[in-house]
Parts: sequence; C-alpha cells; structure tokens
Amino acid sequence: MYNYRAMKKLLKKLIQAKTTAEEGELTAAQVISAEFASFGIDSQIDTWDENRANITARIKSAGQKGALLFVCHLDVVAPGEAGWQHPPFGAVESDGKIYGRGATDMKGAIASVVTAIGRIAESGTKLQGDIVFFAAAGEEADSCGAERFVRNYAAQLPEIAGVIITEPTDFEVVTTHRGMLWLKVTTKGKTAHSSAPQLGINAISSMKSLLDELQDYKIAAKSHELLGDCSMSINTISGGKEINVVPDSCCIGVDIRTLPSQSNQQIINDFEGVIAKLKQKNPKFDAEVTVIREVGALETDNNCDFVKDFCSAVRANETKAVGFTTDGPFFASLGAPVVIFGPGKPELAHKPDEYINVSDVEKAVGLYKEIILKFLI
Ligand SMILES: [Zn+2]
Repeated sequence: MYNYRAMKKLLKKLIQAKTTAEEGELTAAQVISAEFASFGIDSQIDTWDENRANITARIKSAGQKGALLFVCHLDVVAPGEAGWQHPPFGAVESDGKIYGRGATDMKGAIASVVTAIGRIAESGTKLQGDIVFFAAAGEEADSCGAERFVRNYAAQLPEIAGVIITEPTDFEVVTTHRGMLWLKVTTKGKTAHSSAPQLGINAISSMKSLLDELQDYKIAAKSHELLGDCSMSINTISGGKEINVVPDSCCIGVDIRTLPSQSNQQIINDFEGVIAKLKQKNPKFDAEVTVIREVGALETDNNCDFVKDFCSAVRANETKAVGFTTDGPFFASLGAPVVIFGPGKPELAHKPDEYINVSDVEKAVGLYKEIILKFLI
C-alpha cells in the first residue's frame, strides 16, 4: 500500500504557495521542481516578469509510442471578499478534506499527477512513450502560460498521442466545452465643461446608442447538440471621471461564450458593423472594439481511439460536455486529442472554503498511473 503522506504534504505546500495573479506562479513551480527532483526527475522552470512561471518535465522513453501530455495550471483566483472558515492559504486538514484556495482548482490534481509520474519513474517501469508534464501560468486570467508553451515548445515536443487537462471534473471524462471571446468596446467623445455640454461629445450618450443596438443583436449560430446556444452578456461598464466634465470615454466588457462552429472574427465584424451603422447615423459617434481574451471551443472526437481507450482506463461509460472553458483548445492546436479529467468537484472552484477530499486525490494518483500504463507500456 502506497504511503500518501508525501502526497498530502506536497498538496499542502502547493496550496500554501499563494499563486494569485498578484503573487505569480514561481513559488508553486519551485515546489513541483523539488518534488520531481526527489524522484530523480529533471524539470525546467520558465520564468518571466519576475514571478510568472511555467514548469515542464519530460520522462523520456524508448519512443515507440506517442507521448502523453498532462496539462495543469499553477495559478488560482483570489480568495475574494467573503469570509473563509479556514484561512485560504493555510491548507488546513479536517475531516478528510484539505481546505484552501486552489485545493480543487487545481492543486489537488497537480499533487496527484506529480505523485503518479514520480511513482512510475521510481518503479523503473519501461515506458514505450514519453510522459510530458506541463503546468501553466495564467490560466484563470489570459492563458499566457499555455500560449507561451505552445509558441515556444511545440517544435521540441515528441509526437503526442493525447492530452489530459487535469481540471476538476469529479472523475468525469469531458471532451467538449464552449469557447470564450471577451471584448471591450470603447466609445470615444470629447471633453467639455458640463455647463456647456454642446461643446463636447458625450461618450456615455454614445454608449447608450450602442447598447440600444446591441440589445437587438443576436449572434448568428446554430445550436450545438451538447452545448446548446452561444451566449453573450455585457458585464462591465465604466465611463466619466468628474460630475462636471463631459466624458470622452466609456467602455463596456462583453463576455461571449462560443460554439465549436463559430468564428470569432465574424462576431468582431458584427460589432464593427454596428459601430459603422451608428457612425453613419451620427458622424460624431466613434467607438472601437478590442479583444481582451479568446479561447476556442473544444470538441474532441468521441469516437477516436484515444478517447475510447482513455474511458476504458478510467472505467467511464460516457463522455461529457461542460459549460466552463479550459486551456484545452491551445493544446488541441498541437493536433492531438484532448480530454479533461481530474479530481475535485467543479462547483467548489472559485468559492470560499474551497476544499478537496484527500480520498479523491489518492484515487486520482491511482487513475493517472493507470492511464500512463494503459497508453505507454
Ligand atoms: Zn482550473
């Protein structure tokens, strides 16, 4: 029987490494690097902007089979304003659970993947394909870590048989999710003293006409059989600095969740079309659209051998589609099938008193090991 004490210690250290957007990911990358080193595995930390970090490790094999790429993310969302019963970075263990920001999303999964890979390496099992471990920066914010990895390291990777994104799915095999397109639309005006507003161009009034147009706008997309419809929601607005100054700028943030068949460019063109129409009506109207973030939708072929073999390795009878988005599509661009599979209940992510059951992390170690053995020996 494997002793899970070391794995729990690793998980606690990972939670205590406070990898919020402000603090960066370097501390967690160092924890992982030390853990791999204890198993005799080399890893490479890629750092930038002082505290940002990705980490990669590769267990080389005889190379007769395609590699497995395990993808995690190091960053966590901030603990938020709500009160926590347990300190968010304390990694308190109580009643078989470990509490802390990131316990579920996704430091529990990191601890189990690293442990599974370490145990396989330690056992001396001869592998026919490589294991590549990658943990990214910035998944919660802008996917900068995944983009950087794909841009800089894709050429050095071995042929990949399949990618496992270890987001919390409570051990369900997820192969499909919607994409994400975040737009910022800024109306531009001209400041003036508000006692003579006719001398300025009010960017807030311009935004009102834009919002009226967007009210009637519907993104053209056919419903997806598993994901349903594309959605659009205007979630932020800001404009104006002083109550006695005509504002020269007003901007909104729009969150669009896209389907696999959709083109982001088409949606951006639609927004630009709305702006052009308003400009034609009123020559003083001016606005611009900028893309804040884009992640594609994911639609892995459920009938491919990798998905079928993966389901049999983890004893899953079906695959699922989910509403949330992951870094998966960046890795799908490598040309390999992508599945999302990890311990932890997705509904606990990003909430106060986030926790993971220790038994789930232990179960994940066993399942990740079985996946490696199924594909690589
Ligand atoms: Zn996550």
